[in-house]
Amino acid sequence: MDCNPRSLLFVLFLLLSCVSPSYPIIYPPNEVNLLDSKASQGELGWISYPSHGWEEISGVDEHYTPIRTFQVCNVMEYSQNNWLRTNWIPRQSAQKIYVELKFTLRDCNSIPLVLGTCKETFNLLYLETDDDQGSHFREHMFIKIDTIAADESFTQMDLGDRILKLNTEVREVGPMIKKGFYLAFQDVGACVALVSVRVYFKKCPYTVRNLASFPDTVPMDSQSLVEVKGSCVNHSKEEEPPRMYCSTEGEWLVPIGKCLCNPGYEERSNTCQMCRAGFYKSTLGNMECSKCPPHSFSHHEGSLHCGCEKNYFRADGDPASMACTRPPSAPRNVISSINETSVILEWSWPEDTGGRRDITFTVLCKRCRSVGGSGSGSNGGALRCEPCRSNVRFLPRAVGLHNTTVTVGDLLAHTNYTFEIEAQNGVSSLAPKMRQYAAVTITTNQAAPSPVTVIRKEKTSRNSVSLSWLEPERPNGIILDYEIKYYEKEEQETSYTILRARGCNVTLNGLKPDTAYLLQIRARTAAGYGASSPSFQFETSPDSAFSISGENSQVVLIAISSAVAIILLTVLLYVLIGRFCCHSKSKHPDEKRLHFGNGHLRLPGIRTYVDPHTYEDPSQAVHEFAKELDASCIAIDKVVGAGEFGEVCSGRLKLPSKKEICVAIKTLKGGYTDKQRRDFLAEASIMGQFDHPNIIRLEGVVTRSKPVMIVTEYMENGSLDSFLRKHDAQFTGIQLVGMLRGIASGMKYLSDMGYVHRDLAARNILVNSNLVCKVSDFGLSRVLEDDPEAAYTTRGGKIPIRWTAPEAIAYRKFTSASDAWSYGIVLWEVMSYGERPYWEMSNQDVIKAVDEGYRLPPPMDCPATLYQLMLDCWQKERNNRPKFEQIVSILDKLIRNPGTLKITANTTSRPANLLLDRSSSEVPSMGTMGDWMDGMRTLPCKEAFSGVSYSSCDTLAKTSTDRVVLTEVHVTPASCPEWEPSMGITTL
Ligand code: AMP
Repeated sequence: MDCNPRSLLFVLFLLLSCVSPSYPIIYPPNEVNLLDSKASQGELGWISYPSHGWEEISGVDEHYTPIRTFQVCNVMEYSQNNWLRTNWIPRQSAQKIYVELKFTLRDCNSIPLVLGTCKETFNLLYLETDDDQGSHFREHMFIKIDTIAADESFTQMDLGDRILKLNTEVREVGPMIKKGFYLAFQDVGACVALVSVRVYFKKCPYTVRNLASFPDTVPMDSQSLVEVKGSCVNHSKEEEPPRMYCSTEGEWLVPIGKCLCNPGYEERSNTCQMCRAGFYKSTLGNMECSKCPPHSFSHHEGSLHCGCEKNYFRADGDPASMACTRPPSAPRNVISSINETSVILEWSWPEDTGGRRDITFTVLCKRCRSVGGSGSGSNGGALRCEPCRSNVRFLPRAVGLHNTTVTVGDLLAHTNYTFEIEAQNGVSSLAPKMRQYAAVTITTNQAAPSPVTVIRKEKTSRNSVSLSWLEPERPNGIILDYEIKYYEKEEQETSYTILRARGCNVTLNGLKPDTAYLLQIRARTAAGYGASSPSFQFETSPDSAFSISGENSQVVLIAISSAVAIILLTVLLYVLIGRFCCHSKSKHPDEKRLHFGNGHLRLPGIRTYVDPHTYEDPSQAVHEFAKELDASCIAIDKVVGAGEFGEVCSGRLKLPSKKEICVAIKTLKGGYTDKQRRDFLAEASIMGQFDHPNIIRLEGVVTRSKPVMIVTEYMENGSLDSFLRKHDAQFTGIQLVGMLRGIASGMKYLSDMGYVHRDLAARNILVNSNLVCKVSDFGLSRVLEDDPEAAYTTRGGKIPIRWTAPEAIAYRKFTSASDAWSYGIVLWEVMSYGERPYWEMSNQDVIKAVDEGYRLPPPMDCPATLYQLMLDCWQKERNNRPKFEQIVSILDKLIRNPGTLKITANTTSRPANLLLDRSSSEVPSMGTMGDWMDGMRTLPCKEAFSGVSYSSCDTLAKTSTDRVVLTEVHVTPASCPEWEPSMGITTL
């Protein structure tokens, strides 16, 4: 092989081309090329200065398509300064451009005798101009973009010696202002072949979303999103103005609003297309066209509804989706049962209901007389019919019957009647010619007697009563007897007695004294019973006197005195229990769990959070849960923040016979009201109930002197959101997961205690010098009043919209599951290094987008598992969100298997909700104790562990993951005296 480094480079480049994969290059649709050297098959005509520097050569790519490349390899000579400048590249509408370089670079060690002269980098530069300056070229005007080095100079592939690797590097430049620019490549003595140069910018490409089209949009160079209004596609209407945001990465985000296809049109491949013949759509919306229902048709495309076939109809209120129907056939099997001058008619449903269920029946009554000579209408002679008299009674009625029976009364005795029974449905009135009925003809019999109306009481005693009555006004024949029915009024006819009497009087015996009775009488003739009389009430006489025998009086006396004694005893017990309860309320917080606990059923043995508001005197709650400190033990050093009630300072606390510790001191500013003092101290009453390494620890309170203070452990790195923003992209994945695990563990503890935080957000997490995160900012309603992120909702109260679960926003359903939603947002904040959730979208847009199912996209480089966890936390159905215990165990698995963090989430694909089901065996175990320690970079922690014989992270995590955190907490005070704002970072 030729030893000249330059020819070696070229040969190797060609060899490399041969092993490249052979498929055509497809650029992402959101990248617009401004320059692609591979696309040019003739000379590129770039300027090379001096001429013995960069040289343009021809090669072939993997498809044997000629390409133009540049190379330089003056590695043997000192002081190289070889420039290669592209042609003028018009900027078009781009603000930020990307330069993608593919190149090979020789490793100096592989070239003999070049020590001292050979370099392994080259420089990329640019110059903005408003016009093409031709061959005019001035080095000093170019601005350096970056020094480009190879990722790897060589692969391991054995090809006699070694083979060069094709490197790809991308650099961003912007914002661009002038009309165009040049790129330049400055070589200072390397052996490099520039295989291809591609210059592009990103845009959000034309797209149709929710039936609205969005034009090609070039993003802004700054961090902000561009809001773009969409226009409804043809044959659609806006339901709500469609909008989307174009991100700096050329991605469309947060589709809001939508368009709906007009009636007669349906959505097909992002367009509104006419319904096919035989189909229809009557409303605006994105549902599909429906097939014409039975007995209807549509011959044309784009039908709004289908017409009915012949003899089929649609009633006024019938929906377009309903089949066309017709009137029912006649009722069947009519049976009449004649009872004197009334008749019961019964029939069956029609055989054909016409396709409807709204069937009713109408009975028409006709009185028919025989005409002509035969004289017997019922025996087949001609009948002349006329409508019945209006006093004929129908029970329940004559029209609109839902049941298949009717009783017709008050007919004339010995008379012919014809009843026509018609079944009707909702379309009967539309087709009068199609109506059918069934008819039945009857002849009535003798009429029954009319009711007895006059009843008299003749004689009453304690056990009997004598009654008499008048014969009915219309006996309609000879009265055979009377039926007398009576019963105790109290018993309401549940048991009664029936007697029969031939005459118009009766004596009822065996009655109870002093009792009210009801009685009814009806007469019977050969035609049957007449109707009953109205109820007649009578009372028997009372017993003569109230007498108690000697034995009975004793029983009564005993009963009365027992009752008095029981009442007295009850009153006494009530007073005693009342006192005991009041006493215990203020003494034993655990016994108050029935009053609160957020509806959770708590297990015995697990401590439960006690709401300080349940104390009549809140200062009693403070002293129950917080230690009173003497102000002389506290030294205030400096102000570190501002709270709602006053300043937050750092300082030191030195308790007798204890080591001095660093503390944060929250003060209550002067001039406070009683309520402010109560609310201020409520936070201490809550915090004082918690004891967990990931919950901010309360040291005590000062309430007996002024200023009133709350003293907590000191968190050197302040709140998590600003801490992350300050250290953008500076942590390893494992460090971030470690922080998240701490927050989840603190939240698990709070939810086990029955405490719902309601304002979990990165700004309410504090970070100490060992990167341990602790949940803080406890309070009651005031938590939200205090939070600048909280906004008023339509229902009143203030809520930090971006962090809050939809059900908590909509109807204030705050639970540990809504805390889990907020945890998902914190997870997103952490992985995006303190980015504001939903960026600058308005709260209203956030509520709407979340409601429509939109979820935040994965932050840059976010591991897929963590993004899946976020999506799990943002399940709409709150019971499907992971419990904090599950979150802790998922994060523990990640810590044990840091390899899993390398798979990053793809912005475009939204994974299904699988993370909770995933078995740990799917995640390859790669972690070692050293990795974990290096990840955490907590020296004291590492040292603390080195004394213990844990061999791997797995063993450690299985033994007790909590101990990792606990150990860090244990070492915190030792590092405390040296704290400086920057200390936390230097130890990272
Ligand atoms: P807060 O009223 O709890 O929201 O606190 C206001 C600010 O004071 C926070 O954003 C922190 O920057 C700071 N701060 C509060 N508590 C502590 C603490 N324990 N250690 C260090 N800084 C704190």
